[in-house]
Amino acid sequence: MKLDSPIFDSIRVKPEEERRPRAAGPACDHPGCGLMATHRAPKGRARESEYWRFCLEHVRAYNQSYNYFAGMSQDAVMQYQKDAVVGHRPTWKMGFNGDAERFDAADPLDLIREFGPTATRARHERATAERRPVHNAERKAFDTLGLDIDAASADIKARFKELVKRHHPDANGGDRSSEDRLVEVIQAYNYLKSAKFC
Ligand SMILES: [Zn+2]
Repeated sequence: MKLDSPIFDSIRVKPEEERRPRAAGPACDHPGCGLMATHRAPKGRARESEYWRFCLEHVRAYNQSYNYFAGMSQDAVMQYQKDAVVGHRPTWKMGFNGDAERFDAADPLDLIREFGPTATRARHERATAERRPVHNAERKAFDTLGLDIDAASADIKARFKELVKRHHPDANGGDRSSEDRLVEVIQAYNYLKSAKFC
């Protein structure tokens, strides 16, 4: 196989950095960068006298992300940035799942979930999860009123009045359990009302 074929040149992913001139002197700490480090950025509260050395582009990126990553260990930040660099290469996906698990605990703002490679799947799962509780809440409200989920608005209102009468503490000698039941009925009715079922 001819590895120096122009076809390989055209399909090979060439990082932007490779085309830039390499500089003598301290190199940018951003993984895979290699430009001269012209700026420095504090490593964080616990390491006040320590600095990362970055090029202009990466000190800006670091400063932008600095607040987002507050509370995350600096190693995790660097690992995140490193993964962001290599993240678009197909081979990376294979090793990521373990890393993703590791990062979850250190991702209070859902940055990785939001912008990482699994973001699409995570968004889908979240959307599904958000739909289901609403559906369940509707079903539960109908159940509480003893109605089918396709009950008409007039039926919901009639059943509500009936249950309020039946479970009103005044009609049950101040029975505490009937009061609890009344609260459930009112909550269920208010839910269905707010969801425009009646
Ligand atoms: Zn850099």
